[in-house]
Amino acid sequence: CSHSRGKERLETPSANKLTDIGIRRIFSSEHDIFRESVRKFFQEEVVPYHAEWEKAGEVSRELWEKAGKVGLLGVNIAEHHGGIGGDLYSTAIIWEEQAYSNCSGPGFSLHSDIVMPYITKYGSEEQIKHFIPQMVSGKCIGAIAMTEPGAGSDLQGIKTNAKKDGSDWILNGSKVFISNGWLCDVVIVVAVTNREAHSLAHGISLFLVENGMKGFIKGKKLQKMGLKAQDTSELFFEDVRLPASALLGEENRGFYYLMQELPQERLLIAELGISGSEFMFEETRNYVKERNVFGKKVAHIQTVQHKLAELKTQICVTRAFVDSCLQLHEKKRLDSTTASMAKYWTSELQNRIAYDCVQLHGGWGYMWDYPVAKAYVDARAQPIYGGTNEIMKELIARKIVYDK
Ligand SMILES: Cc1cc2nc3c(=O)[nH]c(=O)nc-3n(C[C@H](O)[C@H](O)[C@H](O)COP(=O)(O)OP(=O)(O)OC[C@H]3O[C@@H](n4cnc5c(N)ncnc54)[C@H](O)[C@@H]3O)c2cc1C
Repeated sequence: CSHSRGKERLETPSANKLTDIGIRRIFSSEHDIFRESVRKFFQEEVVPYHAEWEKAGEVSRELWEKAGKVGLLGVNIAEHHGGIGGDLYSTAIIWEEQAYSNCSGPGFSLHSDIVMPYITKYGSEEQIKHFIPQMVSGKCIGAIAMTEPGAGSDLQGIKTNAKKDGSDWILNGSKVFISNGWLCDVVIVVAVTNREAHSLAHGISLFLVENGMKGFIKGKKLQKMGLKAQDTSELFFEDVRLPASALLGEENRGFYYLMQELPQERLLIAELGISGSEFMFEETRNYVKERNVFGKKVAHIQTVQHKLAELKTQICVTRAFVDSCLQLHEKKRLDSTTASMAKYWTSELQNRIAYDCVQLHGGWGYMWDYPVAKAYVDARAQPIYGGTNEIMKELIARKIVYDK
């Protein structure tokens, strides 16, 4: 542990371990204390049960309520909205500590830092009062449903639609790959509300759909190559009657809201990517220092040392960029292109690191009991969700080529 009370804080290249508490200048000693408690929570409440949840394809609801009790949900949601009122760095600590625990099951960050902000920013006072306190307590689990079997990258292709019936809406369609989809109590559904709009982007709205509403059916939990304890589901909507109060924000403004919220989602993915890389590096460092081959430790082979030097350098350089994105975002200055760069770069780095770290473990790295095997398969989703990396490059390129 590189605790630096009273001293300059170390950055990751000079810290003892990349996962140490007390490092990085973006954090303070208050953040360190919070991080200690979050680390303890993941070690005590998540790690021991995760293998069981991987088999079940979902974590327990009890875990959500425990997280709510200790104040780990809605950390960056303002107190006047019913949240914890912490800063962005505090919620980022939860993202990082979950990655350091190597337990991808609980969908806390999606719930707290993707779903809740839609409600607090675009919701009515009534919606905020109804959902946020319950979500902060872990009694109401949130999800967001954009993707459909026939439309992922290209949201213009979505078919789920809501039609007016008096003051109500009638929702029809289906969604797929929805994280927290099986456990969710409320899901933000992206639906077409005006097919005649000059572009579909102007004809999309968001709806808050609650579990138990007639016609809202949860399909199967999907079998994934990784993220095994995460409940990723299909959702079906068959003539779901929604009251006017289920509309989130203004009618036909949904696409605009999605565009506003994407930088935070991409920053979150980047943070998970770099933290996952830091975790894998430390696991691998420990492993090669213990494992003997040809009468010496693996870590004493020069080519292995060079590989470790390369991995650490790449991770530390990327960490500096992600920390600067966090700083920008804390000041509300992180633009969409920069967030896209962070998402694309970090998720690809994470996959290269995963490949090399498995390789450095030899056959044991391929065994599920070894944390690095799980980290390897979990990493694979990162360049895909939250907008694929090809789409990230489109967004980055647009700014290069078409902006004056
Ligand atoms: C584990 C997991 C969790 C997820 N969670 C959620 C969730 O909670 N909510 C939700 O709504 N969605 C979720 N998704 C869906 C995810 O966001 C989509 O899978 C993703 O946006 C890609 O869409 P698609 O799968 O339809 O691929 P497609 O859009 O069909 O893409 C296929 C390929 O074509 C490429 N491609 C597409 N357009 C272009 C282009 N213009 N230029 C170059 N290449 C292009 C893509 O990059 C990809 O390689 C999740 C996915 C996974 C795997």
